[in-house]
Amino acid sequence: MIFFVLALGALLSLALRMLWKQNRALRELEDAARSSQPLLHEEGPTSHLPAWSGLAETVNRLISDNAALRQQRSDQLTQLEATLGNLREAVLIVDEANYIHLANRALRDIFPAARNLVNLRLELIVRSAAFLDFVRTTRAGQALPRQEFELTEGQQTLFIEASGAPIPAPDGKGQWALFVIHDMTQQRKLERMRRDFVANASHELRTPLSIIKGYVETLVEGHQTMAPADRDRFLKTIQRHSERLNDIIHDLLTLSRLESSTPGLQFEPVELAAFLTALGDDYRQRPNAAAHPIGVSAPPELGVAQADPAKLTQVFSNLLDNALKYTPAGSRIELAGRVLETGEVEIAVRDNGPGIPAEDLPHIFERFYRVEKGRSRESGGTGLGLSIVKHIVQMHGGRVWAESAPGQGTSIVIRLPRGNGAARPAG
Ligand code: ADP
Repeated sequence: MIFFVLALGALLSLALRMLWKQNRALRELEDAARSSQPLLHEEGPTSHLPAWSGLAETVNRLISDNAALRQQRSDQLTQLEATLGNLREAVLIVDEANYIHLANRALRDIFPAARNLVNLRLELIVRSAAFLDFVRTTRAGQALPRQEFELTEGQQTLFIEASGAPIPAPDGKGQWALFVIHDMTQQRKLERMRRDFVANASHELRTPLSIIKGYVETLVEGHQTMAPADRDRFLKTIQRHSERLNDIIHDLLTLSRLESSTPGLQFEPVELAAFLTALGDDYRQRPNAAAHPIGVSAPPELGVAQADPAKLTQVFSNLLDNALKYTPAGSRIELAGRVLETGEVEIAVRDNGPGIPAEDLPHIFERFYRVEKGRSRESGGTGLGLSIVKHIVQMHGGRVWAESAPGQGTSIVIRLPRGNGAARPAG
């Protein structure tokens, strides 16, 4: 990496030096042309004609040299910008006063808030004392090894990894500095998510496991002397918690398969109206469905979607499960599909239950997120149902979101892209 920074530094300082020299030549040419111009406008005596035409020739040559030099300079600048623009690495050059002289596209992608970085002071873009220190130390001396910095950009946190090298200023006086920067934000976020996930999954698995372990130990020690009713109760608790363990592992495996490179989705044409009607019929067969009646609205215009019917069934089964679990007896559930003006298909599962508080709403599709932890666990929830829903919907090119307010019920809305559902107009 440091070798790359040094090589890039050498190349760029050469290019900057050439551009600086051309700039200076341009300025000299322009000065010469400017000082010759008044002479051309004076009416010279005819006896001086040869000298007069010589001067005109010089000025013409100066003008054409100037144009050629300008063209060459802009070609070189374009070439330099194109080369740096194609680099995946962000490149930054600052002068001795921290003014930015070069910032390629990758750098502008990291700091989109500052549209044109050139000629701005670095302090306006990067608000990190540690990074500014790094810049100062780099400019003053040796190339420094890679370092990571955490920057706060408004509400967001950015993680960047920077390597730097000093480069001579193009006029030969003083020292500038070049940096190659990588945006590590996404990677760090993923690492954090993975860590959180492992911690959450371990916690979720440990709870039923430690209950099972406790009951088994008691049974091993006292099953011969224990009252049969107690033994029965203990065994039933063990059974309940092993089922729970099984459900969590099943959902974890489903998620991991969905996230793998071979999620195994099998797309085929699915007639959506018939599909929703069948979901409603299946739902009515559930043991406690009578206490939560369902209404299905499935107009034929929904057409045919390219979908994996088994996965799509899992989506609605999870949503209907939730509507059943989280609403009191007597609540009403609706499964309704419609075609939007854009041609997209929207299918919503609505209930008129207690709803979800606004602060929880953005999180309910996260793995293991529960609004009421006890309630979810009691009713056999794994906290993974909605993240499975989100994954499957996204794999169908769609979006899913929740609309809810406490006391107003909950709607989980799925929108499938145009052409994936709506029937084409006849003819
Ligand atoms: P769980 O297995 O806990 O049901 P989900 O991922 O399916 O996990 O749902 C996440 C959380 O969202 C649930 O724990 C519950 O608190 C809340 N939730 C989901 N659907 C509803 C609903 N229809 N009404 C109220 N709360 C809901």
